[in-house]
Amino acid sequence: MSNLPDEAFRDTIGTIDDSGNRKFIFPKKPSGKFYNYRKIVSYVLLAILVANPFIKINGNQFMMFNVLERRFNIFGFPFWPQDFYLFVISMLVGVVFVILFTVVFGRIFCGWICPQTIFLEMVFRRIEYWIDGDRGSQSRLARQEWNAEKIRKRLFKWTVFFLISFGIANVFLAYLVGSDQLFLMIEQGPVKQASNFIALLIFTGVFYFVFVWFREQVCIIACPYGRLQGVLLDNKSINVAYDFVRGEKEEGRAKFNKKEDRALTGKGDCIDCLQCVHVCPMGIDIRNGTQLECTNCTACIDECDNIMESVGLPKGLIRYASEDEIAKKETFKFTNRMKGYTAVLFILLSVFVGMLFLRTNVEAIILRLPGQLFQHKGDKISNVYTYKIVNKTMNDYNDIHFELIDQKGEIKNVGNKNFKIKREETAQGTLFIEINEAILESDKTTVKIGVYNGKELLETTKTNFLGPRSFN
Ligand code: SF4
Ligand code: SF4
Repeated sequence: MSNLPDEAFRDTIGTIDDSGNRKFIFPKKPSGKFYNYRKIVSYVLLAILVANPFIKINGNQFMMFNVLERRFNIFGFPFWPQDFYLFVISMLVGVVFVILFTVVFGRIFCGWICPQTIFLEMVFRRIEYWIDGDRGSQSRLARQEWNAEKIRKRLFKWTVFFLISFGIANVFLAYLVGSDQLFLMIEQGPVKQASNFIALLIFTGVFYFVFVWFREQVCIIACPYGRLQGVLLDNKSINVAYDFVRGEKEEGRAKFNKKEDRALTGKGDCIDCLQCVHVCPMGIDIRNGTQLECTNCTACIDECDNIMESVGLPKGLIRYASEDEIAKKETFKFTNRMKGYTAVLFILLSVFVGMLFLRTNVEAIILRLPGQLFQHKGDKISNVYTYKIVNKTMNDYNDIHFELIDQKGEIKNVGNKNFKIKREETAQGTLFIEINEAILESDKTTVKIGVYNGKELLETTKTNFLGPRSFN
């Protein structure tokens, strides 16, 4: 007989039956220490998630991801297409951070932070327990014919789920197009804001489909992060894990018998009660080892701890632990792989913070007009330039003008000397710089130009000023 462990469970996923049909999961309602902690974390995160697009800092939405107009606000900092490098670096920091976290702490993100898990387990599933009851009642209700009770419960549940999906879609839209646009749509009505309203209905439909029917399939099939687990996790990663050494011992798991002394029989501490399987929202048996479906939701830890307590055995048969900790009794070590990721994360973070400090709210580009030489204007030399100023803020600037900072001379803007730039707009035009020939020290001088709003210096930029070659 082969000594290889039976790994047949890896050939299928827990939510598909032998004939390839969807197997709906009716997980037992979790209870215990971790579930209580997760509830607190989830509701704090939910409050932040919902509030984010409605908070403004200096007139900027706190978080906004307007993909269509390529405008992003992160922590109140507006990122324009000109700042795209910053956005890319911030995304890279996020990815490396999540990878590092996964290598060390497994799928802690999925179980505790992911909005899909939080909405499904802490909002929709809890409402389902409230309306349909626990695992047994849910499964009975699903099998029973469409009588008055089932119709009433289903209609009530689906209506509540639709309203919540509609609420989530509104928040999602506020992230995408901005909360101002959302309020405008509410004020003007769906006809005048048809595109936003259609988007809102589509998002509502998608959320409704995901939370009513698709559910855990998102984590198993659709989520790219979930698919990465196989390459990120190793024997040293901390996961929700079954202590197979203690659970199986020499004689394997066996039903509990209160008359026998388990320590003398050689039987493992697992009493094969299957409660960890019944509580699992992914429909898997954690005793088979780490599996791609497991989101580290901790429900099985709580459930097994409750069982261990009730039969007088030590808790922690299922717990946060690495494979090596269970099999070799190794304590946690900061491996070279983790050190490498930390170094990359540190470098990216430093680059990002540095660039964030260098970034300005107003960006000015002043370039010499191509093909144009300098001109003599009496005792002055004149060069012609084009300028472009981007106002990335939510403030209107009404008194914009240019001044030379470290050079005597004059800047003449074509048109009005002082002009306006409205919030989130750009201004462009032509200007002349005139410098007395007598004070020029070279045929090519770098000049520093300040962009002022009234007396406030908004931005400085440099450009070249050309003059005649004959200098003594
Ligand atoms: S809940 Fe604990 S004791 Fe019960 S089957 Fe699961 S691992 Fe074994
Ligand atoms: S195996 Fe445990 S931690 Fe993993 S999804 Fe199931 S209940 Fe959650």
